[in-house]
Amino acid sequence: MSVNVLFAATQARWSEYEGPLNDAISAVGVDAHIATDIAPGDVDYIVYAPNSDLQDFTPYTRAKAVLNLWAGVEAIVGNPTLHLPLTRMVDPALTQGMIEWVTGHILRLHLGMDAHISAAPGTWKPKAPPLAFDTRVTVLGLGELGAACATALSHLGFDVTGWSRSAKQIDGITCVSGPDGLDRGLQRADYCVLLLPGTAATENTLNLRTLALMPQGARILNPGRGPLIDDDALLKALDTGHIDHATLDVFRTEPLPSDHPYWTHPKVTVTPHVASETRAPYSAKTIAENIRRGEVQEPFLHLVDRSAGY
Ligand code: NAP
Repeated sequence: MSVNVLFAATQARWSEYEGPLNDAISAVGVDAHIATDIAPGDVDYIVYAPNSDLQDFTPYTRAKAVLNLWAGVEAIVGNPTLHLPLTRMVDPALTQGMIEWVTGHILRLHLGMDAHISAAPGTWKPKAPPLAFDTRVTVLGLGELGAACATALSHLGFDVTGWSRSAKQIDGITCVSGPDGLDRGLQRADYCVLLLPGTAATENTLNLRTLALMPQGARILNPGRGPLIDDDALLKALDTGHIDHATLDVFRTEPLPSDHPYWTHPKVTVTPHVASETRAPYSAKTIAENIRRGEVQEPFLHLVDRSAGY
């Protein structure tokens, strides 16, 4: 029997996903009807983006799961009408994109590339950059993306510490957890990379107190979520020179308002939430695998813990 898959995201996403989703679901051996308009009572799975019009899940009485197209779930996890299992996006392309953004932006600062790219004629100041071996990076969040970035940085030679909620063991990484683990991680962070989810517990993880723990001249990269940083505290730390640079991909308000001080601050680089994209040919496979699992009563992959918020 055919399963009904409702695609609840923007029209632009449907144009991207219609072909790859059909291909991926038939490749896992499930016969599916995938459409953007199916009567709620007939829907078996909801492929979902939190910016879709669907906000009331009450009428979807037969559905087995909501399969989120985004890695972040803060815009759906608190929806009081949602009682179905909720999964989030994890796929190899999303992870690879984040590894490339994080390593690229760290290496830009580490190697001091800007000084040479923008040098005026005849103004070289030759100075060898430090080595990764002598440079400490702390990654906040050791989930799908944080652990992969920490490992990639470690393979480049950086001395990497990672912080998570639960204790972890990852080859080549000094793993810390809990509030004192955060403090210890930040005290040794020449670079801090934020890859935490946006939850009540992670809001303002970097604030006046925790920024002050970081070494003089430390650098910050935030491809996680805007609210992880207290913006006023960061601007203050940049202005005093305690923090040397911040490279930010995510913001409390997106797109970043044109009058926000981050746009013009000489020690801030902003990128437009492009650190890592979900790409349909890859993420469709994650969705298809979860539909296959749902059909044979296997546990779903990448289930969100509603009480933890991620
Ligand atoms: P994930 O797999 O859910 O990992 C989250 C990590 O954060 C886990 O290690 C978790 O600890 C840790 N954590 C959560 N709450 C914590 C707390 N209160 N204290 C300490 N550690 C805590 O998430 P992910 O897939 O790696 O994604 C990371 C972030 O990247 C998310 O915010 C996501 O939205 C964002 N993202 C951004 C882009 C972009 O383009 N900018 C693209 C994709 C994703 P445990 O391991 O102990 O649970």
